[in-house]
Amino acid sequence: MPNTFMPPLCWPGGGLGLMSGKGPGGWAAHNARMDPRRRFMFRPSAAQRAVQRPPGALAEAAFERRCTRCDACVKACPPQVIRRGDGGFPEMHFAQAGCDACGACVRACEPGALQAPAVFEGWVARFSAACLAQRGVECRVCGEACDARAIRFPPRLGQVAQPVLTQEACTGCGACVGGCPTQAISMARG
Ligand code: SF4
Ligand code: SF4
Ligand code: SF4
Repeated sequence: MPNTFMPPLCWPGGGLGLMSGKGPGGWAAHNARMDPRRRFMFRPSAAQRAVQRPPGALAEAAFERRCTRCDACVKACPPQVIRRGDGGFPEMHFAQAGCDACGACVRACEPGALQAPAVFEGWVARFSAACLAQRGVECRVCGEACDARAIRFPPRLGQVAQPVLTQEACTGCGACVGGCPTQAISMARG
């Protein structure tokens, strides 16, 4: 008996993709083949996704206008904490190390999308419920990693001390992120 089943129009790879001539695989395959510059037009804004740009970045809209996605900052960063991210724009990635504010990325940015001083405006560390201390296990790894002394562990009588962030002291450097044994730290807008 011949297979007469037709996929609903809304399914990935279904009727819409086939009917509109996008070829085998429908829209998913079409999107994968799409020019990255066009795909960038349809993605959520970086502000919506809360992407941390390299230090000294202009405000997001101006940054995206000025940045040519040349990767100069990615290549210039000694601890390699800048990665090519969504749309080809640089993003911070702190799994292995933090930013030491050397300014090499800013100096490498000829279009001026990054400008001195090499600081992260408004970014701070956030702790999730995965934190060991919050689960009653002694841990101070993040506090030891923070040169700015932005993480303190105020003593609590008979209980495990908890990490407390002094937001004003946090530089957004991400040095505390990679060492956390439970990946409980992420960077967020302060
Ligand atoms: S300031 Fe230095 S360490 Fe920080 S992101 Fe730029 S190049 Fe990397
Ligand atoms: S390093 Fe991670 S688990 Fe340890 S205290 Fe800091 S946030 Fe909690
Ligand atoms: S991001 Fe940097 S300054 Fe902020 S708490 Fe973590 S290590 Fe300290």
